[in-house]
Amino acid sequence: MAKLTRLGQQIWTNYHKTAACNVKERLEIANGEESGGRAYLKSVAETVLELLKEAKQYNIPVRPIGAGWSPAPINIVEDGWLVETLRLNRTFKLDADAVHPDCEIPPEALLLVQCGATVDEVYESAEQLGRSLRTGGASNGQSFAGACATGTHGSVWKSGGIQDHVRAVQLVTPERIFWIAPDKAVLSDEFITQTGSEIIRDDRIFAACQVHVGAMGFITALLIETDPIYMVQNIQKATKIEREHIDWLCRGEFTKFSREFGLNEEPYFQQIILNPFDPFGKNALLRFLYKRPFNPDIKPPTPSQMGAGYDALTLLGNLMAESEFFKAEILQVAMERGYPKDQDVDDPERIATWGNTTEEHTPIANLFNGSVTIERSLLSEAFDLIIDSFRKGGGGTVVTLRFVHKAQGLLAPARWEDNVVIDFDGPNVESSHSGYKKVVEALDDAGVPFTRHWGKTNNLDERRVKRDYEQDYANWRWAQAQVMPDPAERQVFANDELVKLGLI
Ligand SMILES: Cc1cc2nc3c(=O)[nH]c(=O)nc-3n(C[C@H](O)[C@H](O)[C@H](O)COP(=O)(O)OP(=O)(O)OC[C@H]3O[C@@H](n4cnc5c(N)ncnc54)[C@H](O)[C@@H]3O)c2cc1C
Repeated sequence: MAKLTRLGQQIWTNYHKTAACNVKERLEIANGEESGGRAYLKSVAETVLELLKEAKQYNIPVRPIGAGWSPAPINIVEDGWLVETLRLNRTFKLDADAVHPDCEIPPEALLLVQCGATVDEVYESAEQLGRSLRTGGASNGQSFAGACATGTHGSVWKSGGIQDHVRAVQLVTPERIFWIAPDKAVLSDEFITQTGSEIIRDDRIFAACQVHVGAMGFITALLIETDPIYMVQNIQKATKIEREHIDWLCRGEFTKFSREFGLNEEPYFQQIILNPFDPFGKNALLRFLYKRPFNPDIKPPTPSQMGAGYDALTLLGNLMAESEFFKAEILQVAMERGYPKDQDVDDPERIATWGNTTEEHTPIANLFNGSVTIERSLLSEAFDLIIDSFRKGGGGTVVTLRFVHKAQGLLAPARWEDNVVIDFDGPNVESSHSGYKKVVEALDDAGVPFTRHWGKTNNLDERRVKRDYEQDYANWRWAQAQVMPDPAERQVFANDELVKLGLI
């Protein structure tokens, strides 16, 4: 059987120390000594089922957590059981008989991932099989189930979020164990039975589980689809951009933008970090990744030579500890201080696999991150409004632009055909919060529709979630009631934040 270790009552603080709770019991779940993937999945799911049944019987809220990275308080629980999953980190290749005869995905593209496997561990397993993920966030320490929970994304403009890789989810409720998959079958009936599960094949319920926000049950495993392995070339530079370039990005003219600042080809990924005090007068930090065929003879550069760690939080991390707020000049120094100067178009080529483009984050105390996602075609008209409001609100930290295609999952924040995500990453001080609030108010006043990241500071509540997601919210709640029809089951997953969001 899977091992459940009870670690007692304690104060638990999330990874970046933005939220804490007094838990009745902290528990850790780990694999037992089973033989074969199906036995592992069955044993873990049955152990979780027993735990959830007990929790329901005694009205104890349960909070499964991955890496605990979300700064939003969705991963804490007062007076409940907090279940750590990072040791459920195995990945398995599928045998031919595990795949349903109707499934059109080649079996070699499918990978079974336990919920607690970190994004980095999944990258590594996939690469060993000659496969790769299509997209991911700026770092790789999140658990796969936790990253999907909030619709974690990067800036691969033709892809959505990390949850887009998911093809089926093993979900445990206080009453049952399910594999949830789309209408078109993926996993064989035999596999489902041997993992101790029942099957639900339903497009809507599946789409609800893709971005589950921790309120759909306890996810124990996921089936993901990978791409054939590829490499990417990294180009980075600090340079001034002009307003006209924002218009190009707004229109999706990424090749034109790349020709101006990077290589004369379509980029696979591009990210722009701006100083909101003077976005066109001071250097912006640009990062491009270009797709390349896999070549085993290429000696991989270090992750930092591939641009890992050149996200806003890492760049500002050290200074954030020293300074409560940033002024234009300090911010610019912080932005450029650690940014490489040797990765421009004429510098030695930095080429590595996708998995080499990110790395883990060390905990950053006192962190703020918030974002808004808008339809990309509104970027030009909303740009000044966003930058000016953030600055006027006192928000003296960098602004990052990332580009994402419509993501899968009913509650995916990237819900338009093409999206731009505008991140505000910096110190957890009043000015960051007030700057972010000003942006949100200004967008509302101007009638610009937008969504917010579930895992970051977002000031959301039930009324707003309903308004942002409309029918998709109603469908999500319907799906939740299909897998957990009894309100007492749903109550097991209640915490203050999820209740406030109207998700329990
Ligand atoms: C340094 C840093 C960098 C980041 N970079 C990005 C980025 O580039 N792009 C982006 O979009 N986001 C980014 N984020 C946000 C981050 O990706 C999300 O918050 C993600 O959800 C965290 O994953 P986790 O494993 O830590 O989940 P947790 O915070 O542990 O959990 C998230 C939610 O999922 C639930 N949950 C976790 N595991 C399970 C399970 N097995 N079953 C059911 N529910 C579960 C939790 O209870 C919680 O409600 C970043 C955050 C930080 C701190």
